[in-house]
Amino acid sequence: MYLDAFYYCPHHPDAKIKAYRIECDCRKPKPGMLLKASQDLNIDLTQSFMIGDRLSDIMAGQKAGCKAIHVLTGVGREQQSKHKLDASFTSMDLYEAVEKVVLNSMKR
Ligand SMILES: [Zn+2]
Repeated sequence: MYLDAFYYCPHHPDAKIKAYRIECDCRKPKPGMLLKASQDLNIDLTQSFMIGDRLSDIMAGQKAGCKAIHVLTGVGREQQSKHKLDASFTSMDLYEAVEKVVLNSMKR
């Protein structure tokens, strides 16, 4: 098992370090990191899933054209009570989310 790449956003409009204090395209809920990964790794985002516990994860995934899976671990339950989350699926945890991805892929 391996990871092809990982991406992170070092930017924030209020960052202490001036070089990172910008409005970027990669900070979720913007989809920049997903779009970059799609270009770098030739990923079809319409056939992809974004899994996350925050509203910003779900929004980034949807803006990128992915199906979004909201997991209730981490801050997932808290986010669920605060926001209207319009994910394709909700899962108890990452394991259940992966099961949904696998089942969804077998339907094609
Ligand atoms: Zn950024």
